[in-house]
Amino acid sequence: MEIQDLLKPSMRTLPPYAALEDVNALARELGLDPDTIIKIDGNENAFGPSEHAISAITNSLLNTVHRYGDAEQRALRESIGAHINVSPDAVVCGNGSDELIDLVFRLFVAPGDDILISSPTFGMYSFDASLHGAQVVDVPLGPQWNFDSERLVIEATRSKVVFIPSPNNPTGNSISLKLVTELLAAGSIVVIDEAYIEFSTHESLVQLASATPRLIVLRTFSKWGGLAGLRIGYGVMHPETAQICMQAKQPYNIGIAAEVAALASLEDSDSLDEKAAIIVNERDRLAEEFQSLGWINPWQSDASFLLCRLDGISGLELRDRLRTEGIFTRYIAHPRLEDHLRLSIATPEENNEVLRVLKEIGSE
Ligand code: PMP
Repeated sequence: MEIQDLLKPSMRTLPPYAALEDVNALARELGLDPDTIIKIDGNENAFGPSEHAISAITNSLLNTVHRYGDAEQRALRESIGAHINVSPDAVVCGNGSDELIDLVFRLFVAPGDDILISSPTFGMYSFDASLHGAQVVDVPLGPQWNFDSERLVIEATRSKVVFIPSPNNPTGNSISLKLVTELLAAGSIVVIDEAYIEFSTHESLVQLASATPRLIVLRTFSKWGGLAGLRIGYGVMHPETAQICMQAKQPYNIGIAAEVAALASLEDSDSLDEKAAIIVNERDRLAEEFQSLGWINPWQSDASFLLCRLDGISGLELRDRLRTEGIFTRYIAHPRLEDHLRLSIATPEENNEVLRVLKEIGSE
């Protein structure tokens, strides 16, 4: 018997996931020094973690690494609850918010069920749908990346779960509370993925989620907290749903390094908020500068990145050209984004360098 034949039917054609290319491997391939790369391809936090988190990882771990963490995530759920003003019973932590997306599938999405998305959007929902044998129903975003509310609500009536990032990755726009309410009224589970909410002026829906059956809000320490490599995110939901998630998750899903770093980050939230404010300022400064170049058209963004439409050069061409200059950006393989590139906002110095190189390319 071949190993392929032993796979579950839903796993016979494993789906692709366009993960980030490893910065060290790619730099080496290009003959560049990895330490000099301006890495604006992964929507990570260019300022890194809070200093508190760094010392928590280096100091407070030494006596505890040989122990398992708390399967009930008590300290972290308390601290997150206090930070966002919800009951700890409404919080569930995950190994990155990616794990919580997978948990939603494991709990609620059976083979053959429909899940609903609005493309272009974060690829994880479709990836997990393939793994779980679910069908993806797509109501594409409109020409200005606006949500097609009417069609979404109709499709939501026959979908098990709707997944909407707000702000959306990669387009940067947010969903209205009105549409979220309408989607809930249509009867499906609504997952609002707030990975970038700390860079947005839109109100978070965490408090609503803690009191609303079927609404789940996902958040992460990867962007605001600069902890992408430690893998720590959380979901906020009605306590009854949270209890089910706590029961179904892997018992020790949170590494203790991630736990201490997340706790320290919450204690140091003012400094992380300051960094987020710099990123927001830089985003708006860069958007203006890009516009004045004439050939780079950034879409309005509520997030820590800019999606830019390009004139006279394709997304892939510009990505490859920038790579040779040591600037790694993200080209998203989607039929509507062939003339687009997504750039994460970095430190002011790095952004200036990106701008300088883009001016140079524009003048060629
Ligand atoms: N949701 C969205 C919309 C994202 O863009 C990302 C990261 N690219 C994630 C979730 C994943 O976050 P985490 O690192 O917490 O798994």
